[in-house]
Amino acid sequence: MTAALVATSAAGAALAAPVSPVQEARAAGRPPAVTPACDGHETPAATEGPLFKPQSPERGDLITPAIRGVRLDLTGVVYDPDCTPLPGTLVEFWQCDQNGDYDTSGFSLRGHQYTNSRGAFRLRTIIPRDYWGRWGRRAPHIHTQVQAPGGPVLITQLYFPDDTQAYGRDFAALNAADGLINRACTIALTGPHDSAYTGAFDFVIKTTAQ
Ligand code: FE
Repeated sequence: MTAALVATSAAGAALAAPVSPVQEARAAGRPPAVTPACDGHETPAATEGPLFKPQSPERGDLITPAIRGVRLDLTGVVYDPDCTPLPGTLVEFWQCDQNGDYDTSGFSLRGHQYTNSRGAFRLRTIIPRDYWGRWGRRAPHIHTQVQAPGGPVLITQLYFPDDTQAYGRDFAALNAADGLINRACTIALTGPHDSAYTGAFDFVIKTTAQ
């Protein structure tokens, strides 16, 4: 089966097990034609922080009338360490708002969703602001947890490139001063276009406890 067939045949894709570009290349005995989105390295974990709330709404769109920050449309795929996409995987996000405030009484800027048949997710949100917290001044970040069905939970945080433009803040300085940052968890951003950014981040997670 070719990549084109997987991509264009919904019925075929639904019946076939997910096949990654890396697996296709291996099966065909050739190197991947393009740099693969997944290199098999597991996404690094990070502290959960004190502000996770269980039982968030199931939604991929966190934009509500009160949210006025710089828009971010974040997409990605969740893979296992063999670079096989993982459908039905829980992806949960929580973050602060344009003022650096978390909603601790409700569920603003909190939500969970499940990856689709191709292991993909999409989050409509805003770029969060930096804030002062338990670990000092935090660079802008989005908290996330990812869990394949029956698998262990990956808890981590996603960051923004040094040249991100939002809220008049110096992202390079904020990133440099953040003691928790892991640059491997930086979102790939394009934009801003019409004051909105498009972001991409793929996760690689374990599916068993080992
Ligand atoms: Fe935080």
